[in-house]
Amino acid sequence: MPPLIDTTTDGHVHTRLCNHAVGEMEEYVEKAVQRGLAAIIFLEHLEAEIQYHSRSWLEKEEFDYYFREGMRLKQHYHGIIDVRLGVETGYNPVATSTLQEKLAQYPWDRIGLSCHFHCHKGVHLNLLSRNPISLKRLAAIGINLIVTGYFNALIEAIEIIDCDVLCHLDAVLRHYPGIEFNEDHRQQIELLLDGMQRKEVGLEINTSGFDYRGAPFPAPWIIKSAMERGIQLYAGSDAHQPEDVGRYFDQLPEYLKKIKR
Ligand SMILES: [Zn+2]
Ligand SMILES: [Zn+2]
Repeated sequence: MPPLIDTTTDGHVHTRLCNHAVGEMEEYVEKAVQRGLAAIIFLEHLEAEIQYHSRSWLEKEEFDYYFREGMRLKQHYHGIIDVRLGVETGYNPVATSTLQEKLAQYPWDRIGLSCHFHCHKGVHLNLLSRNPISLKRLAAIGINLIVTGYFNALIEAIEIIDCDVLCHLDAVLRHYPGIEFNEDHRQQIELLLDGMQRKEVGLEINTSGFDYRGAPFPAPWIIKSAMERGIQLYAGSDAHQPEDVGRYFDQLPEYLKKIKR
């Protein structure tokens, strides 16, 4: 039996290039080597046509640097650790062709899929923000409506964007106190998993959740449902500082074994 998850690869790492993480690419690679990982996959933020007060993603200039520096690191660390260059694509339903054009510009080692923003009257609100003002605005629109929109976006995105893995599936409104999904949302999640199974898209077990809520994203029942469909699981720390690389990976085999039972 193959292991339930490969914990020698951190498949989701950011750097200072996204404007909301710290540390150079090489510092993350060094940390991964220290932690004894066999591979590190950078998964930098790509967005299209998002109207937001501060840019939390890379544009062409940063991506050009990302590939130059990434290629150097691949060579420099050859035989020590496998360095891969991926992307976390933030889905925007009204910018699908722009997203596809951007994705076609680089030779990604892995394409992750996420949805980070909700558009309201032409302005985008960050679904993963902890900012109280932002959370208040989202609540005013309606929490159920926001969550429904989020899962609908992902269901659509899986069909449109050619990707390898879906990131932090249930992280929507993760900072909203007492956030809960209703029966309709659960059905949406099952539909989403059906789409992932059909498209052979993997599910990320995002260990940043251990810091936010004591358990990874997504919730155990979602992981179980994915396992039953034979969906591949990928470990990702969602590191936004070098220290985060491979966080809690040692706990994953046991955690997943319990869920599978
Ligand atoms: Zn980020
Ligand atoms: Zn993300």
